Amino acid sequence: MPELPEVETIARGLDQRLAGDTVESVWIGSKKQPLKSPAGMIASTLEGKRIVRVHRAGKHIVFDLEGEARASQTRSKTAARGQPRTAASPQTAQWIVHLGMTGRMLVSEPAAEVAKHTHLIAKLASSRELRFIDPRMFGKLSVHAGAFDPGGVEPLDVSEEQFIALFRRRKTPIKSALLNQKLLRGVGNIYADESLFRAGIRPRRRAASIAREQLSKLRRAVREVLREAIALGGSSISDYVGADGEEGFFQFQHRVYGREGEPCLVCKTRIRRIVLAGRSSHYCSNCQK
Ligand SMILES: [Zn+2]
Repeated sequence: MPELPEVETIARGLDQRLAGDTVESVWIGSKKQPLKSPAGMIASTLEGKRIVRVHRAGKHIVFDLEGEARASQTRSKTAARGQPRTAASPQTAQWIVHLGMTGRMLVSEPAAEVAKHTHLIAKLASSRELRFIDPRMFGKLSVHAGAFDPGGVEPLDVSEEQFIALFRRRKTPIKSALLNQKLLRGVGNIYADESLFRAGIRPRRRAASIAREQLSKLRRAVREVLREAIALGGSSISDYVGADGEEGFFQFQHRVYGREGEPCLVCKTRIRRIVLAGRSSHYCSNCQK
């Protein structure tokens, strides 16, 4: 499942390739699962819009769109409820893509074969196509008229005081609190384990029992881990959103995640794995207290 650094990398790659392009038409497949807004509303929101910018919010890819509402089509319910629009005022909207487990966004030449499990194809003014492919259909597509807010605080923007306030009274294990998307958004299982290792905190420690100083250290670790992973991901942008869709991530060296039974890179103690709230957690019993 793509985590925050992968989604950031994909969003940057899409931004580099698509900013300034315009969606001319949209084809949406018959599968309903990935659609969190009605198909007709997704199509009418995207069609005719210019892609101003593509960015990340939590683990969502956000397309900022701008352009005239299509007068020829029936107005969507959202548009009908809003202010009457004149031709002079450009309509803004957002298209939100969550990749789920297996979702991919491909920028393709129109002649490229359409992969199995393609659920949406946006034809662009540049004559390229943007395709959404998702075999397992845990991905989600939706459109929003206003600014989309996935909830929680961005881990790369969170201040020290904010971070401490989010966690210091939580009675849950710190690992569960880190994964709680209502607190920090976008921190997933791998990076939570890696951050806790760097901060020297065991995953099962109750958040409320962790001193402010250690919470500050954890905040620094979370940001460091995510930034390193983003920096590494940056070298593989072209692979990921390219026509072949090869995943080029995970060059990030895990120090604990997935290393059960292997020696700790710091002290050689065997890395342990426990299951916490249904998720695997990896830690060094010597380095983490
Ligand atoms: Zn160790």
